[in-house]
Formats: sequence, C-alpha cells, structure tokens
Amino acid sequence: MEDSFRSAAEWYDGTNALRHEGHLEWDGRGGFVVDGSTSRMEFAAADLHFLEARPGRILYRRESAPDFRLILPADLPPGLAAHLPAKSEYGAWVDRLGIGRAVAIFAVASAAAVALFMTAPDWLGPRIPDSWERNLGQAMIGDFGGRICHTPQGDAALKKLLDAVDPAATQVNAGVANIGMVNAVALPGGQVLLFDGIVQQAESPEELAGVLGHEVGHVRERHVMTALMRQFGLSVLLAGANTGVGDTMAGVASMGYSREAEREADQYARARLAESDISPLGAADFFERVAEESGEGKDQNAVVGWLASHPAAGERAREFKAAAKKGKTYHPVLTGAEFEALKSMCKDDPEVEEFELF
Ligand SMILES: [Zn+2]
Repeated sequence: MEDSFRSAAEWYDGTNALRHEGHLEWDGRGGFVVDGSTSRMEFAAADLHFLEARPGRILYRRESAPDFRLILPADLPPGLAAHLPAKSEYGAWVDRLGIGRAVAIFAVASAAAVALFMTAPDWLGPRIPDSWERNLGQAMIGDFGGRICHTPQGDAALKKLLDAVDPAATQVNAGVANIGMVNAVALPGGQVLLFDGIVQQAESPEELAGVLGHEVGHVRERHVMTALMRQFGLSVLLAGANTGVGDTMAGVASMGYSREAEREADQYARARLAESDISPLGAADFFERVAEESGEGKDQNAVVGWLASHPAAGERAREFKAAAKKGKTYHPVLTGAEFEALKSMCKDDPEVEEFELF
C-alpha cells in the first residue's frame, strides 16, 4: 500500500486509558487498520465518525465502540483523506446548511421563539390540542386522588345542577373535593371541582349554580390553559404541573384569570342561569355575603379562597342582581333534600380521603 493511504496515528482502543501509537491504513476494501506495537484493530470505514478538530490534529470516534478515539495529524495524505469521514466545523446540521444559512435560520427561529414565548399564554392557551389538555387534566385530577366525594344522592344532585349550567352534549366533569377551602377550580380538559368549603358556604342551590356556572364558563371559553401557563410557564405543557396534590392544589388555588376572562365566565354563567330559569340572585347573594364577611375579616378562609382570586365581588354581585327579571318567579334548581345531599356528600362518603394541605 502506498504512503498516500497511510498516516501516523494515535488511538485509544476503548477498553482502557492507554494511548497506542502506530499508523492508520486504508485497507482498500472499505475498512481501516490501526496497527502499532501495543494494539492492532480493524474496523469498517462507515463505523468511523468525525469527532472534533484540534490545532494540528483531527479526532475521530467509532459508532460501535463509544470510548474508542483515533487521533490523526491534520495534514493527511490525499488517498487516506478521501476515505475518512468529512471534517465538521460546527456540527452536522450546520455543516449541511452552511454557516451563513444556519445563522440566518437561527436568528429567525430565535425571534419567533421570543415572540411566541412573550405572548404564549394568551395566544397558545386556546389552541392547545384537546388531547393534551385532557391528559394534563387527568394527571391533575389524579393528584386529588381519593378526595372526590361521592354518595348516590349527592352525585345525582350535582348532576342536576350541572345539567342546568352546562347543557352541552359533552359535559364537563364536575366533582366536590373533600377540601375545606372556600374555593372552586377549573382544571384542563373540562374538569371542574367545587371544594367542600365553598359548598358549605352556600346557603341555597342557586348560589352554587352561580359558582359552578362560572367555573364551567372558564372551561367553555377556553381560559384554563392560558391561566395555567401564566401560573406555571410553558413547562406545564411538557411536564404537567403535578408533583403531588399539595403542589397541584397550591398552583390551581392561586391560578389567576385575567379580568376579561372573569367577565366572560360571569357572562357565561348568567346566560346559562337565564336559559335554565335559575335565579341569578343566588349568585349575587353569595358574592355579597362572602365579600362582606371577608371585608370585615370574619372569615379569613374566604379571603384566601375563591373570592381572593375573583376580585370586585361587589361589582359582580350588582351585575348578577341586574340580570334578574323583575316580577319573575324562578323555580328552585334543587329540592331541599337534594341540596342537603350535596352539602353532606363529603361527610357521608365513608371512603373519601381527608385532605391536609400542609
Ligand atoms: Zn373565575
């Protein structure tokens, strides 16, 4: 073999830290041989890949032997150089594109990424595919584990309330969670949870219809993913927010909607209440009463809960009041017994788990 197909070489054989010295030779049949006094190896040319260029030297690796390294001088004879894998300056895809085009593409892509990131929650939220949202919602609901209360009568009463405020063919999943906080949340994928604390605060089924209708409104108006991304960042799309019920709880309980989203959710609730002949005065009462209580500091629990994340309770109470038709007799949305069943479903469910946030 002429010298054109041969070069001095150093290599690590991949099994130990010894550096071998000798030469590399093209075998004329699609392979290389490294040969020295301490090591001899043969391998296919396709197995050899460019690793990096250093001053005066080029390093290669082998696909089939991750720790193998071949070190050749930079000035290689042409016959050998023709068979060695091409030297890459910047990494494979940049080399393919050329550095100029790669820089241009990268600049455009970064600008787009920055623009997307800045506006992501508002822009991206309503466009998240349903299947992603459902998976995320299911993971978060999973974090509530066995804390969703069930009794036959309570479930039936909740279903009746839900039918009134969510007449869509595919309804949201609504549940009462065994959590004492005065709160209600909408989770991704059409999951709405009333916490038992807010159920206990309600003095009439119409009050609960207002709260439930409002949360369903957040689902139907596609506010949930936007708010979730504001709270957790875009990572929520990849990782989910769930590392345990405490984290999910703390996250969803402090999840904030924009003022505009709150108005839309209220409007949704009022429209459904009107269609189903449910008095909006219940929701008005609820806002008024809880706002008063929290204002006077009587019920700090209410301050950290639903009302805290839903400001301007007085103004909202007025809007629900204004939606009531003068002189109209509304029918109760639940019977007294059904309302009682809903209020006692957490207490009466022998299986439900206790919730401890801290
Ligand atoms: Zn809201």
